Amino acid sequence: MQHQSIILCYLFFLCTAFSYQPSYHTNCLTGIRRANRFILKQSEEEENALAVEDDDEEEPIFSFFTNKVKEEKGNLFVNEKCIDCDVCRWMCPSVYSKKGVFSTVHKQPTSDAEKIDAYGALIACPVGAILTKESDPLMKDAIRSFPKEIDKALIPGVMHAGFHAAKSFGATPYFLQRRQGNVMIDCPRFTSHLARRIDQMGGLHTMILTHRDDVADHKKWKERFPDLQRVIHR
Ligand code: SF4
Repeated sequence: MQHQSIILCYLFFLCTAFSYQPSYHTNCLTGIRRANRFILKQSEEEENALAVEDDDEEEPIFSFFTNKVKEEKGNLFVNEKCIDCDVCRWMCPSVYSKKGVFSTVHKQPTSDAEKIDAYGALIACPVGAILTKESDPLMKDAIRSFPKEIDKALIPGVMHAGFHAAKSFGATPYFLQRRQGNVMIDCPRFTSHLARRIDQMGGLHTMILTHRDDVADHKKWKERFPDLQRVIHR
């Protein structure tokens, strides 16, 4: 009975979530081809990018900033590691758009809300291709915004988990908050921020992996939540 309800929940999720992110499928193959070039380098680079500033809450903070790039006009920019997965563009279209085969920042974010959305895309970027020249305290708010409600009125409890994984070719991970046990659809990259937040939201009961090639950090999630049931589509 419990599995039936998870499957029903999953079907409902597919119908709603893909209308939220309509361009995912069209960009998936391009993303796969280009992501393959970065997978081997990802863990080393991610370690560097995750340069941690242990602050008062002992919560590691992303530090995707570099002051080595002088030619970029604005603070926020996309570099050549972009795999054209489309994530930043559907997350924050007022800031990111497509230029050739890469994403670009066509307008620097101005309001705090727009900055948090733009930094949310930076955090979600599977290959760390979005950077800033200056750090910004609003980055913490962007990190804490995940998992993010998609449409609280229409689909309460269905959230975008963020933290897309290069090992899953940038596939979008979703988090479903349910009384019967929380569910993750596809696997985000493992970070202590997200794990801690999920703990606060009731933990993780089930992870549904929709494709055998897109399993990313599922072992790390299992280590963090030992009772986690993993279900894979065959
Ligand atoms: S999220 Fe990252 S990899 Fe994907 S399109 Fe944006 S910059 Fe490129």
